[in-house]
Amino acid sequence: RGSLYIVATPIGNLDDFTKRAEQTLRNVDYIAAEDTRHTRRLLNHFGIEAKLFSVHDHNEKDKAEYVASLLSEGKNLALVSDAGTPLISDPGYHLVSSLRALGHKVVPVPGSCAVVAALCASGLATDQFFFAGFVPAKSKARRDVFTSWAKQAGTVVFYESTHRIYDSIGDLQVVYGDQANLVLAREITKTFETFLSGSPSQVLQQFDEDANQMKGEFVVMLNLSLPEEDESLQEARRVLTLLLEESL
Ligand code: SAM
Repeated sequence: RGSLYIVATPIGNLDDFTKRAEQTLRNVDYIAAEDTRHTRRLLNHFGIEAKLFSVHDHNEKDKAEYVASLLSEGKNLALVSDAGTPLISDPGYHLVSSLRALGHKVVPVPGSCAVVAALCASGLATDQFFFAGFVPAKSKARRDVFTSWAKQAGTVVFYESTHRIYDSIGDLQVVYGDQANLVLAREITKTFETFLSGSPSQVLQQFDEDANQMKGEFVVMLNLSLPEEDESLQEARRVLTLLLEESL
């Protein structure tokens, strides 16, 4: 039986395409791509000829059967998205989970991923993080999601588009005021790669001063420094700890 390779592609700089990714795309029988025209351009750049077909959010469940039959015939396939790691806010989840359930071999070929690239250069805590994907487009739903993070440990990370970045940071300002400590990674690995940081109001001020700072693709990262729990809770915790120690 064949294997399905999950192949990461660059998020901007084509030099980030790994050797193994290139070899894999060269060697497989078929490439399932989120957007075949987009992937064709990448393949042309590297002189790779390949049989492409599309797998996107709307046909993924149907394509799983087709991919399973090709794998059973002994064909090897790769899955790629437009940029970065497939399945990370990109299609592929249904495909991979159904193939795994059928016992097929799924092999990662790791590489670029915006969330990891952003986080490792942000200066924010990396020992624990929560990746929230894309947040809702409508303000009310978005504020609800932001509010749900109040007790989240570590760094919260989400993806945002140029169209919504201003309103999204505005909603963070409404929900957390200056208790949110933000880092925005923009256009990672591209010409205008920029890291902006500060409270929501400081970031909005930087947008107001220079509208170019709102252009491109964003990874938003935040730490929350919410007020300490109130004194009676702290006292209760202290007493409990003492009691526990005594009972040991
Ligand atoms: N699968 C991709 C990955 O591995 O990161 C993410 C795909 S998702 C559809 C696209 C979003 O990822 C963008 O809206 C942006 O939030 C983020 N992103 C992708 N490339 C980026 C880059 N070069 N700089 C900053 N953010 C990026």
